[in-house]
Amino acid sequence: MCSVVGIYKNQNAAKKAFYSLFSMQHRGQEAAGISSNENGKIHTIKNRGLVTEIFTEEHFQTVLKGDMAIGHTRYSTAGDDSILDAQPVYAKYGLGEISIVHNGNLTNKMPVRNELIKRGAIFQTNMDTENIIHLIAKDYEKNTLQERIVDAVKKIEGAYSLIILSRTKMFAIRDPYGFRPLSIGKIASGGYIIASETCAFELVGAEYVRDVKPGEMVIFENGEMKSIQLFESKPKKCIFEYIYFARPDSDVFGKNVYETRVEMGRELAKELPVDADMVVPVPDSGVASALGYSKESGIPFELGIMRNHYVGRTFIEPTQEVRDIKVKMKLSPIKHKIAGKKLVVIDDSIVRGTTSKRIIRMLKEAGAAEVHMRIASPASKGACYYGVDTPNPDELIASRMSVDEICEYIEADSLAYLSIESMVKSIKDKKEDYCFACFDLDYPVEPKE
Ligand code: AMP
Repeated sequence: MCSVVGIYKNQNAAKKAFYSLFSMQHRGQEAAGISSNENGKIHTIKNRGLVTEIFTEEHFQTVLKGDMAIGHTRYSTAGDDSILDAQPVYAKYGLGEISIVHNGNLTNKMPVRNELIKRGAIFQTNMDTENIIHLIAKDYEKNTLQERIVDAVKKIEGAYSLIILSRTKMFAIRDPYGFRPLSIGKIASGGYIIASETCAFELVGAEYVRDVKPGEMVIFENGEMKSIQLFESKPKKCIFEYIYFARPDSDVFGKNVYETRVEMGRELAKELPVDADMVVPVPDSGVASALGYSKESGIPFELGIMRNHYVGRTFIEPTQEVRDIKVKMKLSPIKHKIAGKKLVVIDDSIVRGTTSKRIIRMLKEAGAAEVHMRIASPASKGACYYGVDTPNPDELIASRMSVDEICEYIEADSLAYLSIESMVKSIKDKKEDYCFACFDLDYPVEPKE
């Protein structure tokens, strides 16, 4: 998934990028980095780890100086955690210096890469983002970076929310489908912020201005912001941002994530009622939709499961063994609350089924009379090619088993998923503007590999 941020023309640009990345840490915990621009000279620090582990005060005072900065947090994908794959990606090239951050996945990485290699390019990383740097560097017939960026993005396909820092400018670009979010804010102490999520605006004292539109390039130059529509906008915004990924206090694609999740819970209660004593969320991912379920059904909401906040997201660990033990370390039941009770347990999604199975067993061992699982999204059946790190479809439990089989596997008394139709009702927007490919396998851009 990843997060990106750009700070344009603010005295403490790198520090503000750091605060922004801290607030978007949930979008990627494997690595992070910041490039700053000090009078046209770009400095970069990146490493594996959490934002607070990587950066020190000294970095900001001695290296990451200047009034422009871009930053990135990287989401882990199994087996590929090389430090080389941390961003920003920086290069010196024909027109000076450049640094790029990217959220999303390019669907034609290998054809473009093979073509570049034939023309003599050498690559240091496995990242699709490195293709973009090469496309820009090798476009030597064009004399401006802006023209080169335009040529480069015409050759790439798939999902990209990009921020590019040059010696004097900053560019923010979103692919024609706008798969991943990207919003612009105005900072009270001066300049602009561009970020994956608006929760970053709060920490740096910025007001939301607008989203970068699908297919648009926004150029920050001489203190001003101007816009060029590069492609016709064909929105296919990622529905999973609302379901799981974005932080509830963010407004994503123009709507508040928390409110949208509460609506999903309400729709879930309308579509899939249960006779139960209490609604229990799987913390934290099921909390907002469980509140919605409770409001709509009138069944009391109780925090029947506690979460240990020092563990982090379980799914994010690359091996099954580590994931299993981490679920146990992370969640535990409030026994006296749930003993003898009929529970409706709400989570946002089931991926491999590990979390649900463990939770249901734990609740039954704690004395729950019945556990009815309700999921605030449709069954996840397909891989995502646009930047959500869904596992290979064989590992997605819903691609192998029917709902009844999953119910039996996770040892629930009943199981049901929100339908796509109810999901659309809860976002109160046009269905055709969203990508549901992980649920309905209708892929807006076919991957080329
Ligand atoms: P699993 O145990 O594999 O079924 O994972 C389900 C849990 O992972 C749910 O509680 C979700 O909140 C969470 N989840 C769903 N999708 C993702 C994702 N792409 N990355 C990280 N966590 C996720």
